[in-house]
Amino acid sequence: MLELTHDKLRSAMESFGQPAWRADQFADWVYRKGVVDPAGMSNLPDDAAGRFTILDSRVACRADSSDGTIKLLLELCDGQCVECVLIPTGSRATACLSTQVGCAMGCTFCASGLGGLVRNLSAGEILQQMLHLRQASAMRITNVVFMGMGEPLANYDATIKAIRSLTDPQRFGISARNIVVSTVGIPAAIRRLADEMIPITLAVSLHAPNDAIRGQIIPAAAKWPIAAVLDAARHFYRSRGRELTLEYVLLGGVNDSPLCADGLARIAGQLRCNVNLIMYNPVEPLGYCRPGRAAADTFASRLRKHKVIVTVRRSRGLDRQGACGQLRLRQAGQSQGADASQPEKINRAAKRGSKRPLQCRPTQTPN
Ligand code: SF4
Repeated sequence: MLELTHDKLRSAMESFGQPAWRADQFADWVYRKGVVDPAGMSNLPDDAAGRFTILDSRVACRADSSDGTIKLLLELCDGQCVECVLIPTGSRATACLSTQVGCAMGCTFCASGLGGLVRNLSAGEILQQMLHLRQASAMRITNVVFMGMGEPLANYDATIKAIRSLTDPQRFGISARNIVVSTVGIPAAIRRLADEMIPITLAVSLHAPNDAIRGQIIPAAAKWPIAAVLDAARHFYRSRGRELTLEYVLLGGVNDSPLCADGLARIAGQLRCNVNLIMYNPVEPLGYCRPGRAAADTFASRLRKHKVIVTVRRSRGLDRQGACGQLRLRQAGQSQGADASQPEKINRAAKRGSKRPLQCRPTQTPN
């Protein structure tokens, strides 16, 4: 049902022998009221909504953080799991959605990349995360970030289809300006996204000031030099007129030196952009450290001296496996010994990850 445009939903309703306007009522229940059980759709006959599949996933695990963040682990129809998160900030509620099961980018600091890519999500599976999050909280979802598991631009068609549903006033009705697509930077896909004419915000996960460090922490990005990513990002800015965000996760002793700050400032100076510094949420088996607050502030100050607009993003949900992929990793640990091959693959990768030689100084006390 979630993959259908409103016109197609009306046609489908008619094909089931119902008047097309029943689709308006149905959509109102699902998209506006967040009701997914046909039995609760009081103004619809049983054989109207009941003919459609709305959800074929279920919440396998829920983690609530003391800061209000809600993280869900969803089990999909084939038993694979993905995470989604609801992050309340004042009157805003941001949904962080996954686009793939696993991820092929293999970022060495990220739990989601452990075990590699399993499969793409369909647009419907991406959108089901919205409904599960809606049911998990009384808050209306106002913002969406594609920053969960997977590289959204590597699952391009489903991501665009999901965005079109999110921004459709007859479906989720979220302003495109409140949607952020975060990518490691696939130049051809960024150019294609620019040509879609949707005024979303593009966030490029740079994470390094040069190709050498970037190749170390985002191995898949080695084939896309920073210069090519910046060219594509400039094209996005020129065609959409939307400022970019550069995401930079601070990894203690790896990319947080003054030299790195100067390099990042040089890159940011070439773009109309702001920089989000992200305090790393440690993933135990991967061995990276989270810099302390003072180190992050020093890094940010150095950028500001170069006139870069910087935000230091505080971590949300740190007390409950806050980093992307951690809930799935924990679930995989609990499943070990059962006959699921994917959890075993994730755990093997986690163990390999723990042996990676990292330039990492001793962990400082997180703030
Ligand atoms: S950080 Fe993002 S792109 Fe990198 S492995 Fe994790 S999910 Fe994939």
